[in-house]
Amino acid sequence: MNLILLGPPGAGKGTQAQRLMAHYGIPQLSTGEMLRAAVAEGSDLGKQAKSIMEAGDLVPDGLMIQLISQRIGREDCANGFILDGFPRTTAQAEALDAMLAERELQLDKVIAISVDEEALIERISGRFSCTDCGTGYHDSFKPPAVEGVCDECGGKNFERRKDDNRETVQARLQTYHQQTAPIIPYYDADGRLARVDGMAEIRAVGDAVLALL
Ligand code: ADP
Ligand code: AMP
Repeated sequence: MNLILLGPPGAGKGTQAQRLMAHYGIPQLSTGEMLRAAVAEGSDLGKQAKSIMEAGDLVPDGLMIQLISQRIGREDCANGFILDGFPRTTAQAEALDAMLAERELQLDKVIAISVDEEALIERISGRFSCTDCGTGYHDSFKPPAVEGVCDECGGKNFERRKDDNRETVQARLQTYHQQTAPIIPYYDADGRLARVDGMAEIRAVGDAVLALL
């Protein structure tokens, strides 16, 4: 099963990817996570990406295409993968089709999750995650069952993303509308796109996604 979760920042792609990962036993490939790891590591890619991410812009296509091309070739993707945050431009979408064709693979579905702009800002403002295992939470919509303790790993350290602040969020939403939303018709044209209402609660959105698949 090869899937793309598409949608603006805060739509719930990572949240739904966690459920799909558990359901299908395939990895979530979050380019945002990969870049944050590169920044933390201080690698060349991280050095190039840091200021771009802080400004809410997109990292150059060439770097991202190379990153994903290497990643989908790894063994844990043998049974499929869930792309979260890639592709984000038409050039990335075209390059993905080319790299999949080269490996005689194809996309099973592209799931576009739509959420109102105001709700996106509310979701991003309340987002945090477990430092130890990466599980995502929200102050109001998905707090841990026991305050201060991760449901998944029992960890007690949590973090908020540096780019989840009001100004950067506005820039990221603008970037999404200008550069990423135009790829929706690219996938719609040949029937690969499915739309899901992301305004429902987390469980209901996940049920809708699974029903589609
Ligand atoms: P994305 O990966 O698309 O940027 P996330 O999955 O990180 O978005 O979700 C953003 C925030 O909104 C997280 O804190 C998450 O817990 C919360 N969230 C996700 N889906 C929903 C939903 N359907 N209703 C309410 N909150 C949600
Ligand atoms: P995300 O975690 O998906 O919200 O991504 C965080 C940031 O990483 C984005 O705002 C971009 O700066 C960068 N990024 C992630 N994925 C891509 C991509 N496919 N193309 C370009 N930049 C990306």
